[in-house]
Amino acid sequence: MKHPIRTRQTAPFRWESVPLLAYKEDGGTHFKDVTRQVLFEGGDHLGAQLRYFEIAPGGHSTLERHHHIHSVMIVRGGGQVLVGREIHDLAQHDLIYIPPETWHQFRATTPEPLGFLCLVRCERDKPRRPTPADLAELRADAVVGAFLRH
Ligand code: MN
Repeated sequence: MKHPIRTRQTAPFRWESVPLLAYKEDGGTHFKDVTRQVLFEGGDHLGAQLRYFEIAPGGHSTLERHHHIHSVMIVRGGGQVLVGREIHDLAQHDLIYIPPETWHQFRATTPEPLGFLCLVRCERDKPRRPTPADLAELRADAVVGAFLRH
């Protein structure tokens, strides 16, 4: 299918013919109130995909890690992110880099939804969730332990 040159925004953080998708295709209870929109599928000529995720106030993404990296720009609201053992505040237009094999989880901690663009390679490995041993290791740091939702 030929990609349109212009895709109009139809409402704040919604775009013409871009479906609002479930965050993870396989569902699950390890995340809360997250939606996904694929803005650019990427493919052979680019090799990368640009997605827009939105987490409702109080919600969180999956605690996971994987070999591929994420390049993120916050575009709506605020919140916090765990990357490895570091917790960072998120403000509009901040950039977040998530290195390979690094635990990460986003949380929407302000009254506005947390919206962010996330760039990934098209060909990428599946995210892995923590084992009980991984969780115990993460919880050894009390601040990290208090942050985690899973
Ligand atoms: Mn991830």
